[in-house]
Amino acid sequence: MKITVLYSGNYGERVLNTILEKFAQNIVSIHEIPENLPEYIDDVSEYVPENLKESDLIISVGLFGDINLIVCDIAKKTNAKSIIIESHSPKQVTKGLKSEISDSLNEIKIVFPKPFCSLKPVGDTYIDEFAKYFGSPEIEIIGETIVKSVIVKRNAPCGSTKYVAENLTGYSLNEVEFESGNKLHNYPCLASMDVDNEIGDTILHLAGYKIKEAVKKSLKFSNKILTVTGDCKGFECGFKCYKICPVVKMGENAVEIEKTHVNINNLFCGCCMKCVDICPFNAIKVLNYKI
Ligand code: SF4
Ligand code: SF4
Repeated sequence: MKITVLYSGNYGERVLNTILEKFAQNIVSIHEIPENLPEYIDDVSEYVPENLKESDLIISVGLFGDINLIVCDIAKKTNAKSIIIESHSPKQVTKGLKSEISDSLNEIKIVFPKPFCSLKPVGDTYIDEFAKYFGSPEIEIIGETIVKSVIVKRNAPCGSTKYVAENLTGYSLNEVEFESGNKLHNYPCLASMDVDNEIGDTILHLAGYKIKEAVKKSLKFSNKILTVTGDCKGFECGFKCYKICPVVKMGENAVEIEKTHVNINNLFCGCCMKCVDICPFNAIKVLNYKI
């Protein structure tokens, strides 16, 4: 697989350094795109790099606003089949921009992970090859009552999963989900603290939910935090909890619709409590939070 990387800013640099550890042989060209360009650009062609090389996959990291449109020209010039454009800030790629890019490249598979650590396989040869190693964190926690070691099976593209894993040793299994969120902040995760209006939460929080999900999966976490009672009348409220859940908007089944009511899948739930607050029938209850 041949990869072209476009990157900008500190976040872009961090991702580039992380993915080079695995894909150095595959990356055929790397182009730094200037930071702080105007949000609206009439003609992005002047920013299209020279000496582009034939590629299968384009990865674009850290670009803000109209400059993202350069992937359209670059995809045509490199004959790329697949594109990943990440967002770690709400200001990077608006809905309109995503449509404009997708419409002009309708033969090419494009994904817009927000945050990058929500990337999962999508049935595309090149995106899935990349997502084997980088994307939604996957770890294996070794230890009976305390963490002896943590094996990283899939790293976040910014490298945060590896950092979190290296710093969980010695914690009791009861603390490890909570601590994984703390360690992510210590890394520090560079995702934005601004609320993303499409998702209704900050992208930093979404990244926290992803590392906690990885911990819960590894520990086969099954204790319920939230539960839905028989008072749920989803057909009457129009499934408000499903519509507000930021994790659902990120693409995970934290709230599952069952014809007339919902269930909460605590494996994916990030405990933001938005569904608890919005339910008009007070049907979602918070239980004891224990592992
Ligand atoms: S739990 Fe509440 S908000 Fe969710 S579908 Fe049921 S009634 Fe609606
Ligand atoms: S608390 Fe409710 S809204 Fe928040 S992540 Fe969990 S299921 Fe979704």
